[in-house]
Amino acid sequence: MHVNENVKCIRTQVAIVGAGPAGLILALLLQKEGIDSIIVERQSRSHVETRARAGLIEHHIVEFLQHHGFSEGLDLNGIPHTTCEFRQNGRRYKIPYGDRVGGSHYVYPQQFVVQDLIRLFISRGGKILFSHPAVKIEGLEDNLPVVTCSYQDDDSRNLLLHIQADYLAGCDGFHGISRSSIPITHVKTITKQYGIGWLAILAEVPSSTEKLVYALHKSGFAGQMPRTSQITRFYLECPPSDLSSDWPDDRIWSELDKRLAVEGDNKLIHGPIIEKRVLNMRSFVMEPMQYKNLLLAGDAAHIITPVGAKGMNLAIADADVLSQGLIQYYRNQDKSLLKEYSNIRLPHIWKTQEFSDWMIRLIHHTADTDENKYQAFSNRLRQARLERLQQSDTYAKLFAEDYVGLWKP
Ligand SMILES: Cc1cc2nc3c(=O)[nH]c(=O)nc-3n(C[C@H](O)[C@H](O)[C@H](O)COP(=O)(O)OP(=O)(O)OC[C@H]3O[C@@H](n4cnc5c(N)ncnc54)[C@H](O)[C@@H]3O)c2cc1C
Repeated sequence: MHVNENVKCIRTQVAIVGAGPAGLILALLLQKEGIDSIIVERQSRSHVETRARAGLIEHHIVEFLQHHGFSEGLDLNGIPHTTCEFRQNGRRYKIPYGDRVGGSHYVYPQQFVVQDLIRLFISRGGKILFSHPAVKIEGLEDNLPVVTCSYQDDDSRNLLLHIQADYLAGCDGFHGISRSSIPITHVKTITKQYGIGWLAILAEVPSSTEKLVYALHKSGFAGQMPRTSQITRFYLECPPSDLSSDWPDDRIWSELDKRLAVEGDNKLIHGPIIEKRVLNMRSFVMEPMQYKNLLLAGDAAHIITPVGAKGMNLAIADADVLSQGLIQYYRNQDKSLLKEYSNIRLPHIWKTQEFSDWMIRLIHHTADTDENKYQAFSNRLRQARLERLQQSDTYAKLFAEDYVGLWKP
């Protein structure tokens, strides 16, 4: 390694790339056990603390956060949800999923989860290097991993920091560098493009109903998900090639009014749109999720469409299992759990992908190209599924178990 005055070297037990939910949970769990870690994060603290994404937290993940004492904000401000509503042809199909399985979803925006975890980790002496993008990972072959980050000092000089560690945790999301540091001959990447886009919208308005709403419409899917008392997330299905500039605010509200229309009085409240972006519905899973002493967690290892609201939940569950493997290693010099990390996580990840795929087919008539040809047929199938969800305890229970996150392999 070339060392000069512009390069610093430090050492830690576990270097974590990325301060999203996966990286922060992992760091906090290691910290509780006295295992030293450093998180390097590409973005500034204010950027990661205001990045609005997920909102739904599964039952088991809520319990996990409470068990570890990571849930102060969630306990104060999270809103439990037990009923969702599907809509088709102006008709409502209410699904009281909470009653079916005795569990609930919590709505608590991801940026608040991230804020809470950062505050907790730092208050307990944890180190997060913000605005330190990881630019290179080396030494994996020799089991002496080093992650190099670039950063600027107070005089705006460009500097490098090498972090040597026993283990690297790649928690740097889909666009990070960890995954691409693994030789492609060692991994299989399994992907699916659905050919569907969602315009994801955040509006500064109260939701017109407390429930999560999934509307099936011939112009495409629309969703309404409360986030806080004053902020609502909406989704509109659109071609994945659309740009957010194709969707001026007037067009968004008129499409939402049309697609979310329903029997009874449930008019949408219009107001300022504070964010809009087009998401491409795609899924990918990398197998295995590890190579030598580099272990991936969260979106770095798998992407799931936001349809079932599972990505952050999977990221936290990965971090939990990964921390257990690392703790076992540092307590007993026993690597057996770490070696099994991918084998433990992948069945759960695939089960969740299967649920998300089922939801995609339920709420989009464009999910299969063949279905465009057979639209009338597939619309009737969707209606039959919704009726069965309402009428059959067994069918509804199966849905509820997956949706709330009570199913574990
Ligand atoms: C609109 C939308 C709605 C969603 N809704 C839900 C939902 O309701 N429920 C749910 O469970 N999930 C949902 N998700 C998915 C969820 O947001 C992600 O799955 C979750 O953020 C994954 O967490 P992570 O920690 O793996 O990755 P991220 O949150 O992406 O964190 C990765 C971190 O790594 C950093 N990073 C990247 N590259 C580098 C580098 N080179 N060096 C250092 N740092 C780097 C990034 O800046 C980032 O902070 C949604 C996503 C979107 C976009």
